[in-house]
Amino acid sequence: MGHPVLIAAELQPLLEPIQLASLDVVWIAAGQPTPPGDYVAIVPLLSRWVGGSEFKRLPRLKIVANCAVGHDNVDVVAAELRGVMVTNTPDALTDATADLAWALILACARRVVEGTELVRSGKWTGWHPELLLGIELRGRILGLLGAGRIGQAVGRRAAPFGLRILYTARNARPEFERDTGAVRVELSRLLRDSDVLSLHAPSVPETKGIINAQTLALMKPTAVLVNTARGDLIREEALAVALEEGRLGAAGLDVYLDEPEIHPRLRAAPRTVLLPHIGSATLEARRQMAAIALANVQAVLAGGRPLTPVFR
Ligand code: NAP
Repeated sequence: MGHPVLIAAELQPLLEPIQLASLDVVWIAAGQPTPPGDYVAIVPLLSRWVGGSEFKRLPRLKIVANCAVGHDNVDVVAAELRGVMVTNTPDALTDATADLAWALILACARRVVEGTELVRSGKWTGWHPELLLGIELRGRILGLLGAGRIGQAVGRRAAPFGLRILYTARNARPEFERDTGAVRVELSRLLRDSDVLSLHAPSVPETKGIINAQTLALMKPTAVLVNTARGDLIREEALAVALEEGRLGAAGLDVYLDEPEIHPRLRAAPRTVLLPHIGSATLEARRQMAAIALANVQAVLAGGRPLTPVFR
């Protein structure tokens, strides 16, 4: 008999038998409540809440190996109180998510989705000097709200496009500044000066709703707002109103407050590119995320330290 563990069923095709060695796996389907029992590890996706009542029903749990870099679906305080380790999968999805942020930046700046819709509709009447004019990136300012792994990776991709970089973070990033010329500024300057503002901060009490009616009012009316971080960083109704009233250039979003629901006004707003939370959706990233989650489980069940604990 192996160690009894719970793993999100969606991960099954991404895992090799060797990664599951010595484990007695119960696969939990999406939407299925977390089953009670003597399980020693759980590998959930972001969509599964793991909090106080789950910890009560899993009295032998040693580790929550979250298959995501974020861990806002886990009550880490309750976990710590119960002596349960929490791990995430940093780094594995940095490049994939940074690439997607750039897909959104370019799609917004050059009106790619509107162009596609026009062609598909059959209403395109031919080349016109003013058809779907976008913004040229060279010489403009890319603002990074948060410059950790993904924020920096987005910034490092900016040089060939000729963008200058401003960023906010609680701690300066000297190496990033040296390599890219990025300048750390206060939030108000970031909002005022950015032509493209890309969000890369975690969802924590200080960042929830950081993009709201007041902060949107500070942004340039032509600015592009991109969010591949977490939906609750943005007040969605305020964003929809700014877009409707032409007070913001465009918004490219991968994440939403209440996924998969999207505020109806935001869904209907003009100048948006709306993606279904696919920041890390490459086969390479998803395989690596699953591999890291299982490596954390194996390390802890072997009596060792986890590879990527959320808190050290
Ligand atoms: P990270 O390396 O931890 O970087 C987070 C950045 O936010 C750092 O610059 C950090 O700098 C800053 N920060 C932390 N707390 C802050 C606060 N209270 N106020 C202002 N800034 C704060 O995280 P990451 O791996 O780059 O991930 C960034 C975000 O992307 C996370 O929200 C994650 O959940 C999300 N994500 C989304 C997808 C997707 O599928 N769309 C995929 C991967 C990740 P300081 O600590 O110096 O302030």
